[in-house]
Amino acid sequence: MASLYDLDRQYFSQLLKDHPTYRVEQIWKGLYNQGLQLQDITDLPKTFRQELALVEDLQPGLALLAEKIGDKGKTIKWLWGLKDHRQIETVLMLYPKRATVCISSQAGCAMGCTFCATGQGGFERQLTKGEILEQVIYAIRTAKQLNSKLTNIVFMGMGEPLANYASVWKAIRIINQEIGLAARHITVSTVGIVPGIRKMTQENLQVNLALSLHCANNESRNKIIPIGLRYPIEDIFNALLEYVQKTHRRVSIEWALMDNINDSYKDASELADFANPLDAHVNLIPLNPTPNWPTRGSNTHKVKQFQSFLSSLGVNATIRHNRGTDISAACGQLAAENTSSKGLIKIQSLK
Ligand code: SF4
Repeated sequence: MASLYDLDRQYFSQLLKDHPTYRVEQIWKGLYNQGLQLQDITDLPKTFRQELALVEDLQPGLALLAEKIGDKGKTIKWLWGLKDHRQIETVLMLYPKRATVCISSQAGCAMGCTFCATGQGGFERQLTKGEILEQVIYAIRTAKQLNSKLTNIVFMGMGEPLANYASVWKAIRIINQEIGLAARHITVSTVGIVPGIRKMTQENLQVNLALSLHCANNESRNKIIPIGLRYPIEDIFNALLEYVQKTHRRVSIEWALMDNINDSYKDASELADFANPLDAHVNLIPLNPTPNWPTRGSNTHKVKQFQSFLSSLGVNATIRHNRGTDISAACGQLAAENTSSKGLIKIQSLK
């Protein structure tokens, strides 16, 4: 078992068949509603917890390898080792009245986006539902310790969530039904996997969909997002249009501004042609630098110019500020550094 969060109620019922039936509910409530570790579920007798601690299947799936803290304590990035020694990352971002966790859905990624440290490293494997949930629960626990509350979850870490559809959606249902986070506070971000967008159109949960577009013409986009060769912009647009018409949900478009790659007036105009018929909201983010790609994020002046030009074309666009550039916050960067340094990054204490 990859993680104890892969286990279902049935498993616990079977495991605890010689115990009172309410024990299963106590464990379930402790793990999911309260976000506790098994040994901290004090509704359970201490000796019973000690017994559970010895069960192989009940072990966590993630081992903390490194923790980096940036933005004066407001951004925390974790590097995890999985049971098969692959590595993934999670980022918790604290704001005055909310906290967002950015989680990974795969170890590595097959999409090969040139500007992304994860894409540069290639695909390793799918994460299980439990490995996805464990990131969320750790973030809930940490936010609480820091007098905050986890309010939002974004699938924008390592991996393409719609290429791991089954596990991602199993995790989303548990986050919504057992952990109790409203679906509209969960965002799935895709680079444009058309069959996945079509599947999401059929889902009955109000989960947000974000498209990482970055270029709105195929020729330029395929140079930085190779999966565009399989799913061209026209197909992505049609799938999104159907999504918007059927679900009446708004999609958002992510646009990482890259110096002289996608920050011209022409780029903005193509973006407007894509976004306006969808009534999509655009998020502009200066690109987080990665060591293996020379292009930098656009400067502040260009970002503002781009936004005001978009606005003159009727596009609702918000500039999002980079978090954690001081702690290698670009997706996959910490794992790449850890592999290349062949050692552990120093773990800093939160307190
Ligand atoms: S940007 Fe996202 S989809 Fe592209 S390689 Fe990185 S993790 Fe994969």
